Amino acid sequence: MKMMMGIEVHCQLSSKSKLFCSCSTDTKDKNPNENTCPICLGFPGSKPKVNKAVIDYGIMVAKALNCKVAEKMYFSRKSYFYPDMSKNFQITQYEIPLAVNGFLEIDGEKIRIKRIHIEEDPAKLVHKGGDITTASYVLIDYNRAGMPLLEIVTEPDFTTPKQVRLFLEKLSSILEHLGVYEAEREASLRVDANISLEGGERIEIKNITGFADVEKALNYEIVRQRGLLRMNMKVERETRHFDADRRVTKSLRKKEYEEDYGYIFDPDLAEVEISKEWLNRIAAKMPELPDQRVQRFVKQYGIDEYQAKVIVYTDKNLADFFEKCCERYKNAEKAAKWIITYLLKSLNWHSISIKQSKVNVDSFIEFLELMDSNTITERYAKELIKEYVDTGISPKELIKGKVKSLSEKDLKDIILKVLEENQKAVQEYLQGKEKSIEFLIGQVLVKTKKQADPKIIRKILLSCIEK
Ligand code: ZN
Ligand code: MN
Repeated sequence: MKMMMGIEVHCQLSSKSKLFCSCSTDTKDKNPNENTCPICLGFPGSKPKVNKAVIDYGIMVAKALNCKVAEKMYFSRKSYFYPDMSKNFQITQYEIPLAVNGFLEIDGEKIRIKRIHIEEDPAKLVHKGGDITTASYVLIDYNRAGMPLLEIVTEPDFTTPKQVRLFLEKLSSILEHLGVYEAEREASLRVDANISLEGGERIEIKNITGFADVEKALNYEIVRQRGLLRMNMKVERETRHFDADRRVTKSLRKKEYEEDYGYIFDPDLAEVEISKEWLNRIAAKMPELPDQRVQRFVKQYGIDEYQAKVIVYTDKNLADFFEKCCERYKNAEKAAKWIITYLLKSLNWHSISIKQSKVNVDSFIEFLELMDSNTITERYAKELIKEYVDTGISPKELIKGKVKSLSEKDLKDIILKVLEENQKAVQEYLQGKEKSIEFLIGQVLVKTKKQADPKIIRKILLSCIEK
């Protein structure tokens, strides 16, 4: 069954002040409605003034997404009635957006970007006693009103929900590398996903905040819509909401059409001319982007492209962490392997990022070196890394008293003892029974309480037997 998927992403930009007033965008530890003024509260007669830094950020994103930036840009009023917008219109861009016609490549496939525009965030609604469909009442926090948003709209080019998640991960990494948003901020990236199956109308799922949730919501919709169509029932155009706890989508409202918003140019805001000089100034300060960084990692550190992609696209801080490790720790491949498998697994288990965790470069290198010196085995290291991420205590501290370090001489003594006690297995091995060596390694592991590395045991065992 043919299907079409596209998304609209709202990214909150991390400029110092809001889009049309000088209120701070830093709402952390602020009381509700503390970061407000007549402009972002939408008082009649207040005059918005555009924050140029936001346009700078927008141009950077547009360039990173291969878009064409408009020479002149306008703001428009989108009229609607809802308690999150007291002036009953949102200042956004409609007729002439900041940029159009770009693309982002996901594993060799181009996802086209239709448009990128700048708009103000509405106030935040806090639903009390339930979710958006069941709450008994609603509180409004205007700290979020007037926050600068960049809305990125794709063409319906996605072929799978997983591809949508990969797109979002890469987009988030790009925004972080550009330094225009903070991934850690609450709901800094919000996604509306559109999906239609052949024979049905387009369904929009509004305001999904987690990348994995977007994938889940789309997968759910595919199953739901396919079921309806198979029973010859209609899939009608509507807006739905994703209930992340129950992992289902629910109907919110029958979808309104763009014409319903009655767009007009905003008479309070002048056109903004984006000159060649302005574009050149931005071009000159474009930092290294994720795709370039992946290629550099492959060249500079000799890790494979898959590893480099995981490190760079997961989060910029993780890529920075990897590079800092490599400054002092020479086995980059080993560092990469342990970061993308066991470190990430432990972080994900706690649903935290590397920045939020207590992991640091010094103690992580210490951890790798404990393995290099055979103080701990790989097997034990897999346990240890969980404890390390949980507690943030340095691995050296963690193993104190637990691992009595086993010197090569100690290990050799144990091996000689095992050989003496298992003459029969030794004979069998010498007669060509390869498997006997595994048995002997097992015996050594038992005696060393699994503190020695099987690879090293094998090496010493063989050297002793074949002498
Ligand atoms: Zn304000
Ligand atoms: Mn929007």
